[in-house]
Amino acid sequence: MAAPGQISAAERSGAEIARLAELVRGAGSVVALTGAGISVPSGIPDFRSPGTGLWLNVNPMEVAHIDAFHADATRFWSFYGQRFASLRDTQPNRAHEALAELERAGRLDAVITQNVDMLHRRAGSRELVEVHGSIATSRCLRCPCEIALDEVRARLAAAADGVPRCEHCDRPLKPGVVLFGELLNRAALDRASSLCEQADLLICVGSSLEVHPVAALPGLTRDAGGAVAILTQGPTPLDAVAEVRLYGDVVGELTQLLRALGL
Ligand code: ZN
Repeated sequence: MAAPGQISAAERSGAEIARLAELVRGAGSVVALTGAGISVPSGIPDFRSPGTGLWLNVNPMEVAHIDAFHADATRFWSFYGQRFASLRDTQPNRAHEALAELERAGRLDAVITQNVDMLHRRAGSRELVEVHGSIATSRCLRCPCEIALDEVRARLAAAADGVPRCEHCDRPLKPGVVLFGELLNRAALDRASSLCEQADLLICVGSSLEVHPVAALPGLTRDAGGAVAILTQGPTPLDAVAEVRLYGDVVGELTQLLRALGL
């Protein structure tokens, strides 16, 4: 309980939600930028939280690196194959659904995500920019082919060494995600930048806003006169300039936002 004269955490959070709803109502263009934190309630660990799930005893910067893929595809896929398997039964949560609902209601123009887990599209988001790619397809680095997830899983399961391969040249397939050591997809980044420049409000959900170049996107919104809201656990470099700061109970906060908007 808060002492008399003090504002309780719930009251403060309620005031921030009300402010966020007001910004959404007043904005011509609203865009969301999401990171690992929005998928944590779906049971996908944030690899920056040490000692969680798949990433236990694994340095993702090493194993999910493009050099690791080229150096030892068997080792790479022994890790990535587990990741594909663990994402199979994962479901979008109410935070993903809330963003899809905002879009259907005409209150959100697009979702830009750092996540590769496909949960936004499965929740129904239509305007989606996956700046780190996704697991939806894998490809051969030599042949012009894209192989859908189900087929990759089938080849993964059938391969004696656990490496899904190209049907034409037998080279290992590479997941359609941006690995460490790889450049982001230029077209996706350009689209994300243009959305952020045009946004009157950028709602950052579950991202620490530390990984470049995505970390620079909120600055584009601010430089163009837009506002930034941050719904994220832990500090971010933009906390001091955020119009709204909520602490990353992403399901609770986005559900309350929908309610405040009468959705
Ligand atoms: Zn090939």
